[in-house]
Amino acid sequence: MKRVLLLLSALLVSASALAATPWQRIQQPVPGNAQSIGSFANGCIVGAQALPLNAPEYQVMRQDQRRYFGHPDLIQFIQRLSTQAHSLQLGNVLIGDMGMPAGGRFNGGHASHQTGLDVDIWLQLPKTRWSAQQLLKPQPLDLVTADDRQVVARHWQPEIDSLIKLAAKDNDVTRIFVNPAIKKQLCADAGADRDWLRKVRPWFAHRAHMHVRLRCPANSIGCEDQPAPPPGDGCGAELESWFLPKKPGSAPPVKREPPPLPQACQALLDNHLL
Ligand SMILES: [Zn+2]
Repeated sequence: MKRVLLLLSALLVSASALAATPWQRIQQPVPGNAQSIGSFANGCIVGAQALPLNAPEYQVMRQDQRRYFGHPDLIQFIQRLSTQAHSLQLGNVLIGDMGMPAGGRFNGGHASHQTGLDVDIWLQLPKTRWSAQQLLKPQPLDLVTADDRQVVARHWQPEIDSLIKLAAKDNDVTRIFVNPAIKKQLCADAGADRDWLRKVRPWFAHRAHMHVRLRCPANSIGCEDQPAPPPGDGCGAELESWFLPKKPGSAPPVKREPPPLPQACQALLDNHLL
C-alpha cells in the first residue's frame, strides 16, 4: 500500500510539473527598460531581448522552443564568450535554453532560468557548423561515465576546459553549474591559475552542458542575487562529498509547490493575461 501511494504521488508530481505555466503563453518580451525581477528560480523579466539567431560565432539550438530571450547583459555575455572562443578556434559554441520572452517558470526541466540571467551552453565544440536539422534535434554528448565518477576520456578535450574557464573569468558571471565529475576534471587540469574554479559549482545532472548564471544587473532593483560561493577553488572536501556513498534520504531536492510570485511579476502576468 505504501508503495502504491508513493507511486501515485510521484505520478501527481510529474503531472503538475508538465502542466503549462501562464508564462509560456507570453509570446513577446514585455516592453520597457530591461529589469530582472525576483530570484533565479522565482522571477520574471521586463525588456528582454532575443539572442540574434544568425551569428558566425555561435549557433542556437531548438529555436522552435523560443527560449532564446534574456537580459541584454546575457545577450552581451553570450556574444563576448563566443567571440573569444571563436578567435581561440575552440570550435562552434552551441547555445541551449536561456529564458522565455517574459522569463518565468517553465513546465519542466528547469527550476531557474526565470529572470533572463541564465543560459545553458553545451560542452561540445564541433569544428563545423551544425545543420538546421541537427540544431532542431541536437544530440547531447554525455561527458560523464555511467558510474558518475569521472569524465569519459575520449570525449574530454582541452577546448572544454578553455570554454568553461573563459566563462568563469567573465566579470558578469557568478556561478557555473557542471556535473561533479566535470568539476573534478577541471580541478585536475587547472594549473596555478585556479581562482576561477570558485565559480564552478558541482550539481546534479549537467553531464553535457554548463549552466552559466550572471549577477543581478546594477539597475535591476528588484533582482535577488545569491550569496557568493564559499572561498577557495572548491576542489577539496566539498567536491569529494559528491562522490561518497549516498546517505539515506540524500536524494536530489524534491520539487515543491512554487512559492508566491514577486508582486511585480504577478502584476505583469495579470496585465498580460487579461
Ligand atoms: Zn540551466
